[in-house]
Amino acid sequence: MVKQSRKPAGAPARTPLDLLHEIFGHESFRGAQAEIIDHVVDGGDALVLMPTGGGKSACYQIPALLRAGTAVVVSPLIALMQDQVDALLLLGVRAAFLNSSLDAAAAREVTRALLAGELDLLYVAPERLVTEPFLALLEQVAGAQGIALFAIDEAHCVSQWGHDFRPEYLALSILHQRFPRVPRIALTATADAVTRSEIVTKLGLGEAREFVSSFDRPNIRYLVVPKDSPRAQLQGFLAGHAGESGIVYCLSRRKVDETAAWLRGEGIDALPYHAGMDAEARRANQARFVRADGVVMVATIAFGMGIDKPDVRFVAHLDLPKSLEGYYQETGRAGRDGEPAEAWLAYGLADVVLLKGWIERSEAPEAQKRVEAIKLDAMLGYCEAVRCRRVILLEYFGEHAAPCGNCDTCLEPPETWDATTAARMLFSAALRTGERFGAGQLIDVLRGKDTDKVRQHGHQLLPTFGVGAGHDEATWRGVVRQLVALGLLHADASRYGALALTDAALPVLRGEAKLELRRPRPKTARAPRRARGGKKAAAAALAPGDAGLFEALRALRTELASAAKVPPYLIFHDATLREIAQAKPRSVAQLREIPGIGAAKLERYGAAVLRAINAPD
Ligand code: ADP
Ligand code: ZN
Repeated sequence: MVKQSRKPAGAPARTPLDLLHEIFGHESFRGAQAEIIDHVVDGGDALVLMPTGGGKSACYQIPALLRAGTAVVVSPLIALMQDQVDALLLLGVRAAFLNSSLDAAAAREVTRALLAGELDLLYVAPERLVTEPFLALLEQVAGAQGIALFAIDEAHCVSQWGHDFRPEYLALSILHQRFPRVPRIALTATADAVTRSEIVTKLGLGEAREFVSSFDRPNIRYLVVPKDSPRAQLQGFLAGHAGESGIVYCLSRRKVDETAAWLRGEGIDALPYHAGMDAEARRANQARFVRADGVVMVATIAFGMGIDKPDVRFVAHLDLPKSLEGYYQETGRAGRDGEPAEAWLAYGLADVVLLKGWIERSEAPEAQKRVEAIKLDAMLGYCEAVRCRRVILLEYFGEHAAPCGNCDTCLEPPETWDATTAARMLFSAALRTGERFGAGQLIDVLRGKDTDKVRQHGHQLLPTFGVGAGHDEATWRGVVRQLVALGLLHADASRYGALALTDAALPVLRGEAKLELRRPRPKTARAPRRARGGKKAAAAALAPGDAGLFEALRALRTELASAAKVPPYLIFHDATLREIAQAKPRSVAQLREIPGIGAAKLERYGAAVLRAINAPD
């Protein structure tokens, strides 16, 4: 491969915008990108908080090309490094990575290129970066061409509270001690204030300028449904996404395996992914998800970080996540390309009981348990919301927003009702049965159902028996769930979810406080959904004549990608292909005008694309 230097001596200085045009093929900077790049090019430290898909990579890649020397990028996942280096090589940027996936000879070659000053960017795993031999190597680089900057990607891995914690990240503060003059830029898509301050203290970024972007992901539609028949509900949701790539998250490995097998039986191209699978099977499934169109990955939260696939069209949660941070990060994997995507969540009382039980029984220090309980409550508040879901999500991250018009509560505002009397009936049933029974039995008692279990305990003789027959089962389930979410009832996980009153229930019980709850949606009302589907979804916005060309370009992209052994989206995004199909450029110069095509891609693929456009139908 011919590698041209990006920093020719004596040539007129190139600006960040020149590089954005020439190399990346983008029109203009997004959000704070330009400001961040200027700051780092000038040698300043930066902490960049930007949502997934916001364009963090350019914030260190462009300074890497503009500053003298090689930029060193810390990245926690091997798969991610490979992808990012592949993407840069396709753009004609001189990049390489060093991690445990390279054999000794390949690693030696990267080291040689590094010392010869042939690399603009070097991606390194954190555990290697902080070793003495590697630091000594960096000293050599510093003494030769120099170190352009340190970029610390996925900087939230330094946080001990988060589920992506990587102990090696704690050692990264050594970079500043050893190379105090090299600017550092830490980047993350995790937004909460606690994590942010942990990054600052643990990485010694007290002097860094913070760039906080809005965390809104306007193209993601948020939907929440109360769980009643989860498989049928999931199937209904997936029907609106036929042929599209997506992720279905489950809490346990067993449920991942069962759900993936069941979906395959239903004719859906689903694959499992969890930490209990052997590494080879996991790797193979991940590779298929990334490289093929339309695979549904059923996974635990072990899956996702390091997946840069931009055209994930949905993320579904079959179980309640433990916190809004986790939920936002997981759903954020949808729609990185900015096109419409959906985040769907089904949750029920059993999830709440399970998660509360985990927290109560855990061996963690009391302080941590309290934090976890507060996080779970925020998650429940989101699920039971009557307001715009996006407003709640953004508020949680300290942002104010107006109702979005693109979530279920905005599109179909939930009805509320005065549930004071119903709640008192439920409290009374719980008290009269000794606070020893779960939701199922209490609802049977309230609705006056004659079951074996009712007779066995003599519950048909209670004065509350049958007093709630006026409400259906779904309504009662909704009341229980909301009372637990609001903290008026405590579901005891160690006693199969037995419901007991808390002090917060007393004002309602005594008739001193009123209670407004949301009504369950009638069964027939389907979640609002885009009217689209099938493999043609990505072409939906095109005129019929252009759709054919779009499909031809997609086929060409698949060919080019497998020849280059990279995922198709690294060649061109769907949006770029759609623009080409519409504009039908006839010359290299016209093709150059399409957003998403930089100089290297024009040179490499321009002729093939023009041939496809000119081919007779
Ligand atoms: P992040 O790392 O923040 O998740 P990326 O750096 O992967 O985001 O960028 C997300 C997508 O946005 C990529 O496809 C990238 O090419 C694109 N992108 C980045 N900056 C711009 C820009 N200024 N204009 C148009 N597209 C951009
Ligand atoms: Zn909304």
